Amino acid sequence: MKAYINNKAHEIKGNESILQFVRRIEGQESIPTICHATNLEDFGSCRLCSVDIARSKDGDKKVVASCHTPVSEGLYIYPNSKRIQKLRKNIMELVLSQYPENELKEDKDKLPTEFQKTIQSFGEIDVRYEKKSISEIINKTIDKDFSHPYIKADFLQCINCYRCVRACDEIQGQFVLSMMGRGNKNHIIKGADVNFAVSDCVSCGACVQTCPTGALQDKYETKIQKADKTVRTICTYCGVGCNLEVKVRNGDVVGIEAPIDAEVNTGHTCVKGRFAWEFYKHPDRLDVPLIKKNGKLEEASWEEAYKVISEKFKSIKNEFGADAIAGISSSRCTNEENYLMQKFFRIVLGTNNIDGCARVCHAPTAYGMQKAFGTGAATNSIADLEYTDCMFVIGANPTNAHPVTGAKIKQQAMKGKTLIVVDPIQTELAKYATYHIQLRPGSNVAFLNLMAYYIIQENLVDKAFVEKRTQGFNGFIDEIKKINISQLEAVIGVNKDYIKEVAIAYASAPNAMEFHGLGVTEHYQGSKTVMLLANLAMMTGNIGRKGVGMNPLRGQNNVQGAADMGVQPNQGAGYLDVTSPDVQAYYHDFYETEHPKEVGLKIPEMFEAGRKGDLKAMWIMGEDVLQTDPNTCQVEKAIGKLDFLVVQEIFMTETAAKADVVLPASSFLEKEGTFTNGERRVQRVNKVVEPIGNTKSDGQIVAEVMNAMGYNQPQYSAPKVLDEIAAIVPFFKGITWERLGKNGLQWPVLEDGIDTKILHETEFKLGKGQLHFFNFKNSPELEIHSEKYPFILTTGRILQHYNCGTMTRRTPNKELVKEDVLLMNPIDAKNKKIETGDKVNLFSERGQISISVEVSDKVKEGVLFTSFHFPEVGINYITSSVEDEESLTPEYKVVAVDILKL
Ligand code: SF4
Repeated sequence: MKAYINNKAHEIKGNESILQFVRRIEGQESIPTICHATNLEDFGSCRLCSVDIARSKDGDKKVVASCHTPVSEGLYIYPNSKRIQKLRKNIMELVLSQYPENELKEDKDKLPTEFQKTIQSFGEIDVRYEKKSISEIINKTIDKDFSHPYIKADFLQCINCYRCVRACDEIQGQFVLSMMGRGNKNHIIKGADVNFAVSDCVSCGACVQTCPTGALQDKYETKIQKADKTVRTICTYCGVGCNLEVKVRNGDVVGIEAPIDAEVNTGHTCVKGRFAWEFYKHPDRLDVPLIKKNGKLEEASWEEAYKVISEKFKSIKNEFGADAIAGISSSRCTNEENYLMQKFFRIVLGTNNIDGCARVCHAPTAYGMQKAFGTGAATNSIADLEYTDCMFVIGANPTNAHPVTGAKIKQQAMKGKTLIVVDPIQTELAKYATYHIQLRPGSNVAFLNLMAYYIIQENLVDKAFVEKRTQGFNGFIDEIKKINISQLEAVIGVNKDYIKEVAIAYASAPNAMEFHGLGVTEHYQGSKTVMLLANLAMMTGNIGRKGVGMNPLRGQNNVQGAADMGVQPNQGAGYLDVTSPDVQAYYHDFYETEHPKEVGLKIPEMFEAGRKGDLKAMWIMGEDVLQTDPNTCQVEKAIGKLDFLVVQEIFMTETAAKADVVLPASSFLEKEGTFTNGERRVQRVNKVVEPIGNTKSDGQIVAEVMNAMGYNQPQYSAPKVLDEIAAIVPFFKGITWERLGKNGLQWPVLEDGIDTKILHETEFKLGKGQLHFFNFKNSPELEIHSEKYPFILTTGRILQHYNCGTMTRRTPNKELVKEDVLLMNPIDAKNKKIETGDKVNLFSERGQISISVEVSDKVKEGVLFTSFHFPEVGINYITSSVEDEESLTPEYKVVAVDILKL
């Protein structure tokens, strides 16, 4: 198919608009635009992109907006005819009649904005219309708005291109920005014409990135303009894995933008990824090794620190054996670093006592999905949201915890797709949901069994899929038929007919995608819930093609990668069973040394062994267990009884303060390696700035400790370690540093570099998918304590902070949210005579804390919710030691508590 530009024929590619077609052939500058942005829907409002078109060479010409007119076979396009030039000039005159004079002057300290470049492309423009600012036209002062910690607004520079309004609507779905007034009185407002700070803005910065004039700016815009380097890397916060373009000036980070060509985030980020980067140069950064002498941590050299560590580890190993030492690796670190950490414990020390912070979040996902499918990872890609008909979100609050994915789900819901939200809290997504099951915390298994019951009863099972691809269905049906519906309905606290409607909606959708988070895993029956979710997908044939599947939303940036690298005590690199003789032989051949055979300790078992005095030493990399692990008093006892503790950190955390040796590590901006996001995408983390002070990357530290212990580990290089990983982890076989390119590869990656977007297309790793049945069991926490402590406390994240807040609390995000608060239902609040802002004592069998209350109908009667980002609250002093029965993941989501007004 061909079309003509100035009578010359050119090939048409795909469904191009005229603008895309002409710009592809004649270059970006060939047609000027104002309202067009590649990551927004075509709008056709400014008309600057107008071109002349004709059906034949000498045919009648007509003017169309090229951005939203498709190019078609045989079309004749004249992008710069005389009348088009005249039209564009007139448009520019009208726009400039409201544009401030001073912004037209060249400023040698600033690079021209996109709009200023467009003006320059016209040469001299003599504005024939009356020049009046928008303030003059509407007879109201449009003040600059500096109320937001990251965004500056000066709407006198606004040219009404609507790009910020559309970015807010189309990308984030927040609808904060809108237009007010008609004709030339048209102007942008925030919320109900308020300032940013009090608007509903979620600070994603999509408006800032798209604004062509600087009317909306990053607070560091002037520095960003002068950046001397831009480095593409991956966000360090959640498992979405957004690509970032980090702007650097004189060796310092000055700002972050989002690359439009990023497959994961197409020019979008959340407030954390775009703005919360200043922690990396916060004065609190640890920048020199510390060794405890006479009870005090004192500065030391790296050599001294390595000497102490190697001597201590060797003497403990000699006296008590390697199993007296344990390590906790970190999902915040790269694959290469996690790989080396587990290699240190297994190959250098000779113990499988290595675990990671996945234990406190997604270990049940890995376990349950492996039991059901053979592979413990997301089956599909987030891009599949475009192809799904039904989104089933259970135990996850993605607009807070996985914001870029959350925004995509919200967009699909607003387009009319079925959204089912299963959550005890009225999350933001719940407001957009077709169905919200506001179940009692801890009743997921009861709910999923009822779903399965109704799917079977309504004859909505995909029999062909079940017969061909699964096993265990007959036994499952027998058990499901025995469930007591009324009893389960009472447990869940939601009408069974409504649950039936949800079951029908999910099972009858042509393509349904499941998403789950920590509201599934951090439960007594967490692994079982994961397996029941897998049942639903298999029963309805929602596996193995676009727009379906089971997609765990991974909490930390590299929780998937850490597990892939062998950061668990039962499986080594590549999820190989450490007790299998074949695996032993495989590892032995590779490392040319013995590999430990006994399954090691999981984190809770490490603490138990510590309390008993059986565990003598620990090396904790990038985790503040004293703040994040449950039942803090018990963790304190374990840590207190160790003979030797090494902590590798970027800040002096509660745990680091107890260490015998503190190793100062680099942040993600100061190192290279790879992170694997929640859709199995291995992406390159590139070094943006040099390590602060005397810090080193975690990988370099581990490699140097290996050498100090006498193991010959080559000098640390992330690409070289990646080669070693590709040689030992079967599903990394085709991965090389170069092949990862800009957008990474989704494992398994074949030898020739071909990656995998969808798992289990024709068969499961297990061969056939395995269905399981489990009866609902109440959490022991509620069984034992609910009489004395009648409320159920459940916890989760908020948008502005990340986990224990070590990083986000050291950025201006703390101006956005200053404290954790407790949500309490209005009826409960009235009964307890508590009002918003009151301080209360929250107490459980383990202890008590004090916290401020917000009265809210986001929680049902009897349920309380809080986040856990601020150490002052110390929420884990009251959480319990109940664990998921299979993976020992703590049950953070169900705590029996009572409350007393202070
Ligand atoms: Fe970072 Fe997640 Fe936000 Fe993306 S959504 S910018 S990965 S925190």
